[in-house]
Amino acid sequence: MNSKSSFRIDPMTKTLPIIDTVSALRQQVNAWRTQGHTIALVPTMGGLHEGHLSLVDLALQHSDRVIVSIFVNPTQFAANEDFSTYPRDIKTDAKLLQQRGAHLIYKPLSSEMYGAHETTRVIVGKIAQGLCGTSRPHFFEGVATVVCKLLCQASPDVAVFGEKDYQQLLVIRTMVRDLSIPTKIIGGKLIREADGLAMSSRNQYLTKSQRSKAPLLYKALQQVVDIVEKGHSVSQSIKAAKSQLTNQGFVVDYLELRDADTLDLVNKDTRPDARLRIFAAASLGKTRLIDNLAVSNLEP
Ligand code: AMP
Repeated sequence: MNSKSSFRIDPMTKTLPIIDTVSALRQQVNAWRTQGHTIALVPTMGGLHEGHLSLVDLALQHSDRVIVSIFVNPTQFAANEDFSTYPRDIKTDAKLLQQRGAHLIYKPLSSEMYGAHETTRVIVGKIAQGLCGTSRPHFFEGVATVVCKLLCQASPDVAVFGEKDYQQLLVIRTMVRDLSIPTKIIGGKLIREADGLAMSSRNQYLTKSQRSKAPLLYKALQQVVDIVEKGHSVSQSIKAAKSQLTNQGFVVDYLELRDADTLDLVNKDTRPDARLRIFAAASLGKTRLIDNLAVSNLEP
């Protein structure tokens, strides 16, 4: 396949070119590099919303060509999780990406990502422990492995990830530093619905009544942040916020104040100038929601 035939509008979606093999992807990336273009990658699992699209905007600010990967990564789901039901709608995703100015969709075949004899996994260490690393023990190993593969396959100049998955962003920054991967990692702001709910592909699972309660998670974070900024007791306010959420039908996995750079729990040893962030995960019915919020005013 020459670079011309690989860069063809996808006949099914009639929107952007969609490439599904590593070799076609590399061919296109090489062609762009020969033309002097810089390249960004935005890794996603599809089910796209404004949060993802804001990352495309950011990628366009940092590079000439933007590749969006869409791959529901099996290794980051546990057996009891929603791998089989995760939203998959390539036609809508492709249309949204075309409207937003992305250049190419990389939707790799499973066999390109996990060949028959593959055994390698990427384990990042301390930053991947605690928070989601505790309740989803295989999650960050799956995420780091698939992102490492995507970065090796696309060799982008920059890759963009959302602060919605703040721990994931730090895991990826750590992996890229430790493995000397020559890609600059850029973090994009968390995008919310008008009522404060953090946008997520999984919000589609919420029933009407769960959807109306879901913004309470953000309200709980705001409440704790407000109290911490006023210098009042953190543990009391976290306890109160957790019980309010429980009373509203949430099953709280964690609600914790941590150092925003190291993810260490905040305690008497925390540096006075540390940037703090509050992190939460809670389920409403079968839907797991996560959110986070910066505490101090030091954040831009
Ligand atoms: P996902 O498709 O959920 O794996 O997410 C793909 C990328 O989009 C990740 O870098 C996420 O952090 C990011 N993302 C998802 N939701 C949001 C959001 N509400 N705001 C900003 N980024 C988001």
